[in-house]
Amino acid sequence: MKDQIAILVSLQQIEIESSSVNAHLCSISKQLDLLENSRNELDQRITDEAAKIEESRKLYRSHESDIKQNQVMIKRSQERLNSIKNNREYQALLKEIEELKRTNAATEDLMIDCLNQIDDAEKRTAAMQEALQLVQNDILREQQVVGAETEIAGKRLKELDRERLKMSCKIDADVLKLFQKVQSQQVRGNAVVPVQDAVCHGCYVNIPPQMYNELQRCDKLRMCPNCQRIIYWKQN
Ligand SMILES: [Zn+2]
Repeated sequence: MKDQIAILVSLQQIEIESSSVNAHLCSISKQLDLLENSRNELDQRITDEAAKIEESRKLYRSHESDIKQNQVMIKRSQERLNSIKNNREYQALLKEIEELKRTNAATEDLMIDCLNQIDDAEKRTAAMQEALQLVQNDILREQQVVGAETEIAGKRLKELDRERLKMSCKIDADVLKLFQKVQSQQVRGNAVVPVQDAVCHGCYVNIPPQMYNELQRCDKLRMCPNCQRIIYWKQN
């Protein structure tokens, strides 16, 4: 039974290492995912800014063409002024010219707004492109790390699988079945734990003295009455 427990402990060690290798792979690939998300987000924001810039440029051109049209109308009206004899008509036309000039001045302000918006968007885009470059460098670096570590981890996992298979062949089917059952019931911690000085190292509760004595015989599998883990005696 001592051998069987030793095999169980090794088997458990193999499983702990396998899951830690897998957890490590998972965490580095998560890191890469996070970086890729940041990159996609930046890409999207740069695209959005480009659309805003295009929109502002369109608006700017439309204001520009409005001003040109008004200038043609102002010029025509000014030419007409010379031929008008009637004072009332003259004043009305002057008022019309003033109105067009005011409209153009307001439109010029709108054009300045457009230019400011384009300028701001271009500044934001430049900052984001700089950030994007950094993220892309990080992604390249992380991809290399993930690639290298995946290879190392893959090799180790294969070794562990081979060891697990070797151990599984040596173990009694009943012992393995019990081990797997206890394992499936444990939310955290190991399924096989040592008992040292009568203390279970799964739950850190003392086991009864009678049981502790029996445990030292190492003649059969025993369970901790408190946490239901498989226990074995560990000498000090
Ligand atoms: Zn226990």
